[in-house]
Amino acid sequence: MKTRTPLVMANWKQHGSEAALTDWLTSVSAIDLPEICRVLCVPLPYLAKLRQQRAELQSKVQAGAQLVSAFRGGAYTGEVSAAMLSEFQVAYSLIGHSERRQWFDETASARRGQLSALWQEGITPVLCVGETALEHQQGQTCEVLMRQLAEVLDGQATAGPLVLAYEPVFAIGSGKPLSAQSAQQMHQQLRLMLKRWYSAADCQRIRILYGGSVNNQNAGEYLRQDDIDGVLVGSGSLQAGAFNALCHAVVHAVTPLVPA
Ligand code: PEP
Repeated sequence: MKTRTPLVMANWKQHGSEAALTDWLTSVSAIDLPEICRVLCVPLPYLAKLRQQRAELQSKVQAGAQLVSAFRGGAYTGEVSAAMLSEFQVAYSLIGHSERRQWFDETASARRGQLSALWQEGITPVLCVGETALEHQQGQTCEVLMRQLAEVLDGQATAGPLVLAYEPVFAIGSGKPLSAQSAQQMHQQLRLMLKRWYSAADCQRIRILYGGSVNNQNAGEYLRQDDIDGVLVGSGSLQAGAFNALCHAVVHAVTPLVPA
């Protein structure tokens, strides 16, 4: 039985509309799943609608952001601060998603700043880490993951609340997920690596999500692994029906069987 509450995060990336958000949230909120925590990371312009809809529906789905500025405020055109996210009741924000690393050249220093900005506002960072296909083939996965953790966590004044998302780059959006057993091995390694910054007890509390082509067919298998505490889902989260099925599969996987 897992002691960490499973976390299922939907990442809409640059998809959606206000109408789609209304339909999705209505459908997803109608299902009560107290066993898990569900989060929806929308594009920033939809945060206002998400706040309004969550209130109207008394939704248990929490609000997430896909990016945050490393700066507190000032002359930074286009940036959105952690304090602004907080006004929209954002509880979690992604940091270091591989698409941000790949297409937007976000630096380690930016990620470090984003992390501390989120901690200052009481928003939980979801730090995404993962190796490329080449790094995987060359057996460099552990080295890459350690570097991606260290460049963000080293030098922070204190280690705050954290969620990790292990997303092998080649598994994202490819329809080729890493097997649950292989993912488990990496999650176990990540939990050990975290000891450099967190106490043993905190390492046991930190949730580590798997991401990369997760859908309602394979989600349950990930959650059956000891060190996989949830999933970060892109395309499999866009349709409410599929997302609801995925969440049901997660609940089923973590609920102990009661003998008849
Ligand atoms: C993601 O957005 O982080 C992701 C894992 O996408 P997908 O589920 O589409 O692979």
